[in-house]
Amino acid sequence: MITDTHTHLYSEQFDQDRNEMIQRAKDAGVSRFFIPAIDSSYTISMLELESNFKDDVFLMMGLHPTSVKENYKEELAHVREWIDKRSFYAIGEIGIDLYWDKSFLAQQQEAFRTQIQWAKEKKLPIIIHCRDAFDEIFEVLETEKSDDLFGIFHCFTGTKEQAKKAISYNMKLGIGGVATFKNGKIDTFLNEIDIKHIVLETDSPYLAPTPFRGKRNESSYITKVVEKLAIIYSLTFEEIAEITTQNSKDIFGI
Ligand SMILES: [Zn+2]
Repeated sequence: MITDTHTHLYSEQFDQDRNEMIQRAKDAGVSRFFIPAIDSSYTISMLELESNFKDDVFLMMGLHPTSVKENYKEELAHVREWIDKRSFYAIGEIGIDLYWDKSFLAQQQEAFRTQIQWAKEKKLPIIIHCRDAFDEIFEVLETEKSDDLFGIFHCFTGTKEQAKKAISYNMKLGIGGVATFKNGKIDTFLNEIDIKHIVLETDSPYLAPTPFRGKRNESSYITKVVEKLAIIYSLTFEEIAEITTQNSKDIFGI
């Protein structure tokens, strides 16, 4: 059993073949799909997805850093309304992204911190999105760290030192297609990181693993990541699937 801890199954990119695509994933052994939120424009599609795939799909709620704009307070209010109204499996994806736009850094920091505090209040894990922002992310985590702060550093692409630092804040590392890239770098030190800190993800439709790099990603391709980790850790495919699924249960409580 494989767990995709991060997939945007509700993306428009799957509108033409969502059922077939999910069936392909199930046929490949992927049976649990954790669904990160982005902003209020996707809430309806996420709820629809959940009602169509009740047993397989687990929703998160949160405001993605690239959606932190002029109206971020309204967007945060939307998140708050939903986490008070019903249960979710995590607060995510949240964090800081300075790759696309640096002009809302202060607002991104505030939104990140606010949502971390909500996660602690609701006893939920956080799912961190970090792009060109390791220092800024760690700065917030340093002031918010506590026993009840935990989660996943999604699409981890940092150095060995940054990996250890993320783990020191009770974060597991979300490993996906980048581990299969020739210049992805994380494959060079991953074997020095205990596998108990690793969970698998696709981030589909983004970041397809080799040999699908550049194409639309989908959850069935996570098997390429399992194969790569089996080599890195000298374990079998089944062992990687089982251990990382157990790690995901430790985070999501299911
Ligand atoms: Zn994502």
